Amino acid sequence: ALVFAIGCSSSRQSNFAGKDKLPIDRKVDSVLKLMTLEEKVGQMNQYNGFWDVTGPVPKDGQAAKKYENLKKGLVGSMLNVRGVKDVRALQKIAVEETRLGIPLIFGFDVVHGYKTVSPIPLAEAASWDLEAMKKSAEIAAAEAAVSGLNWTFAPMVDISRDARWGRVMEGAGEDPYLGSQIAIARVKGFQGDKLDEFHIAACTKHFAGYGFAESGRDYNTVDISDNTLHNIILPPFKATVDAGVLTFMNSFNELEGIPATGNAYLQRNLLKGEWKFDGFVVSDWGSMGEMIAHGYAKDMKDAAMKAANAGSDMDMESYGYLNHLVTLVKEGKVSEDKINDAVRRILKVKFELGLFENPYKYCDENREKQNIGKKEFQDGVLDMAKKSIVLLKNENKLLPLKKSGQKIAVIGALANDKTSPLGSWRIGADDNTAISFLEGMAAYKGNQITYEKGADVALGEPRFMVETKINTTDKSSFDKAIAAAKQADVVIMVLGEHGLQTGEGRSRSDITLPGVQQELLEAVYKANPNIVLVLQNGRPLAIPWAAKNIPAIVEAWHLGTQSGHAIAQVLYGDYNPSGKLPMTFPRNVGQVPIYYNYKNTGRPSTDNPESVFWSHYTDIENTPLYPFGHGLSYSTFEYSNLKLDTKSLQKNGKIKVTVDVKNTSSVDGKEVVQLYIRDLVASVTRPVRELKGFELAEIKAGQTKTVSFTIDEKTIEFYSANKIWEAEAGDFQLFVGGSSTATLQADFNYSN
Ligand code: BGC
Repeated sequence: ALVFAIGCSSSRQSNFAGKDKLPIDRKVDSVLKLMTLEEKVGQMNQYNGFWDVTGPVPKDGQAAKKYENLKKGLVGSMLNVRGVKDVRALQKIAVEETRLGIPLIFGFDVVHGYKTVSPIPLAEAASWDLEAMKKSAEIAAAEAAVSGLNWTFAPMVDISRDARWGRVMEGAGEDPYLGSQIAIARVKGFQGDKLDEFHIAACTKHFAGYGFAESGRDYNTVDISDNTLHNIILPPFKATVDAGVLTFMNSFNELEGIPATGNAYLQRNLLKGEWKFDGFVVSDWGSMGEMIAHGYAKDMKDAAMKAANAGSDMDMESYGYLNHLVTLVKEGKVSEDKINDAVRRILKVKFELGLFENPYKYCDENREKQNIGKKEFQDGVLDMAKKSIVLLKNENKLLPLKKSGQKIAVIGALANDKTSPLGSWRIGADDNTAISFLEGMAAYKGNQITYEKGADVALGEPRFMVETKINTTDKSSFDKAIAAAKQADVVIMVLGEHGLQTGEGRSRSDITLPGVQQELLEAVYKANPNIVLVLQNGRPLAIPWAAKNIPAIVEAWHLGTQSGHAIAQVLYGDYNPSGKLPMTFPRNVGQVPIYYNYKNTGRPSTDNPESVFWSHYTDIENTPLYPFGHGLSYSTFEYSNLKLDTKSLQKNGKIKVTVDVKNTSSVDGKEVVQLYIRDLVASVTRPVRELKGFELAEIKAGQTKTVSFTIDEKTIEFYSANKIWEAEAGDFQLFVGGSSTATLQADFNYSN
């Protein structure tokens, strides 16, 4: 048995245990000293799961090769291995059969739940409830951890302004401030205060700029200014470094003409240099190899050299490091110092997770059985789902629904779907495990419910949502839906996108209701206009006709396992909705990118109504359909009495802002009180509004609450013409209200 500087043990498993008191850096160094160059490179290699442990050992093909390499200690991590049994079997090989017995780290995309599914991240962001999102991440972490996993590829913190991009469902929307707060909450939820057997390492992704893929087409070129990169895209990444995130993932896109995986400015200068990130960076799936197609690397060897030199520490499924890095070091093209740095970072995270002390820390079959899908998790994701719902419109008090004596017609294929509400990126969960809308409604007995499909959302195998192949033109079920609507007091139409019409590789150039759903909506409206439209979708949709004509619209996203119950409880008023949009809803796709924190042009308007020479379209207004921050409640709120305790902010000083929010209705409710600022003149142009604070205020019917905020130099800092973050002297406006269109205003200035 090997005896290591960090401690000795008779069993191979705990070779690395011992002397807990030693600082991790010293333990890491003592392991590093024992490693050959090949073993070091092995730690930088991550394999996709390749072996069903219940079957025979792989004999040929790629799986056999992977198996051999695993036994040789040439694998540092695996992804997509599911369940304690499989994790244990593979870990056993790493620990017992390799020369040094260094444990593997097991990664998985636990993006919004593992088996018990929370709302898609964009939906959760609509809650603006940081505690709830932290809790949701904690549930996901716990369920993944008891399944043997110790590393999630989340949170995805890519800011995006383009609803066409399929991956907006995975992020927190368009705003860097809200996005940063949510990113911190998620990291804290996944990693916990301490990395016990219910918490796992988080991974901030995709570093950086992926959400700005041109024309919203996934994997497309990114071309952004330094100003946008620093002021809009990077803040949530930086926030997670400060919150202690253990790993980062780079990205498929290029930035300034350099693919992120080979980008030394991002990974070495900024992340590991300026920000002092001491965890490791994993490349995105195959992204090292993609540098060849980008035209940035000649071949895989060249790609491996560029990635390693740029600070990409672990290779996910390109085999570039495994096949070329040893040679590259021998040829002097990559220094061994760089390899040592990468391996130190990887080993450090493994130590931090406690895998050296106990490689089977996450492998307990009983714990797995007792925890998967348990009631506490179901209650947690239900709570999160209710908080994620946004009431977009509610005229004629159509909502909440009366609890008895009503004939209700439910129309729409999504109403009866138990898979779609799980949304995209829930690869740990099984199909057909969500509570459908109809099941949620059935929990209420007082009304008479009829159901008609009306139309399919899409045809065919939902996993392959290529619009041209799955688009349906079938209207043969319209008549039955219309007949049902005619008989009903209230019609509930559940329309939108299938859960797999968003996500990776699922960009759409048309963001209206897919298929014939718009025609169905209009046909049913003619029969009975008393419609509640429940939307299920993973991106902002362009629904101008519905916004104008349909009296009540509920944004119910893809809400996860408890979807149906959450929506029904909101519709019946047992839960008063309080969600606010984390992303602007456009009037049509031509307005995209459209976002609240835009900059003024030199021609924002004109005094001459006849003029065409101002920044606008000639066929549609500039405003969105629903702005960022918008969301109604069954309560109504009135804002007044906005006060600043001083109008002049001094160096190291503060301003206390207070506002009175009155619940003018007869129901208790919750309001997300939002604070925005505008920097009037600066060394670089600044947005017309920027979110800088928000508070969730629970206010009883008829009562008034005074909500307060503090602003200081941090509030007004930005990436300036000096290419640093700083606060510049000048005049500012401040707005407080219930959406980004808040009108209550006060002014202040800053002098340094
Ligand atoms: C995605 C990542 C994901 C990885 C592993 C890639 O295609 O871009 O977000 O973590 O696959 O599944």
